[in-house]
Amino acid sequence: MAIAENLLSIKESLPENVTLVAVSKTKPVTDLMEAYTAGQRIFGENKIQEMVDKWEQMPKDIEWHMIGHVQTNKVKYMAPFVTLIHGVDSLKLLEEINKQAQKNNRIINCLLQIYIAEEESKFGLDEVELQNLLNSTSFNQMNNIRIVGLMGMATFTDNQNQIKKEFTHLKSIFDTIQKLEPKNCHLNTISMGMSGDYPLAIACGSTMVRIGSSIFGGR
Ligand SMILES: *Cc1c(COP(=O)(O)O)cnc(C)c1O
Repeated sequence: MAIAENLLSIKESLPENVTLVAVSKTKPVTDLMEAYTAGQRIFGENKIQEMVDKWEQMPKDIEWHMIGHVQTNKVKYMAPFVTLIHGVDSLKLLEEINKQAQKNNRIINCLLQIYIAEEESKFGLDEVELQNLLNSTSFNQMNNIRIVGLMGMATFTDNQNQIKKEFTHLKSIFDTIQKLEPKNCHLNTISMGMSGDYPLAIACGSTMVRIGSSIFGGR
């Protein structure tokens, strides 16, 4: 019951243009089904095998988002069904996604992960790497991927000014590349904000929040 209540109260608090990804990593299918029954259709997982297992067991009108770091050799397992891959951070990974999407006769939507935090451990492209990727011949020749936006994770800190600065930075990068209208891009999504910082992310321009523990409880 708590899951449905948490979900509905968060949903109510979100502006209409903000999409909720219910982050269900490590949680059992019974928990996901509680959210499903309460109306949730978008779920986020960070491990490919776990996402595949849940996809096999659950209703087929669910949109599955891969929000974690993606290993190139595992792309093939999710290529038949994944709706959006949030953590794309290299041309090499994008080439593999394009190849597997082609095999499945699909166009797979992706977000490019941008490095905005002041933490060594976080993944993502910097602005120069982003421009190089968008300008590369290889990228421009891909036919089975579409970049629909950017994703970023703020530093894990209580310093609200720091987090705000990082989210604002991601929004400004998004605005810059949106104006350039690069090939293979249809930019409409900024994925930023988790349980601890999503109201601030929305205030800074987020259109997609990834919320786990505030819905399903701690992990
Ligand atoms: C786990 C995770 C989340 C959700 O985190 P919560 O703090 O539980 O809301 C969001 N984004 C990514 C990339 C994650 O790995």
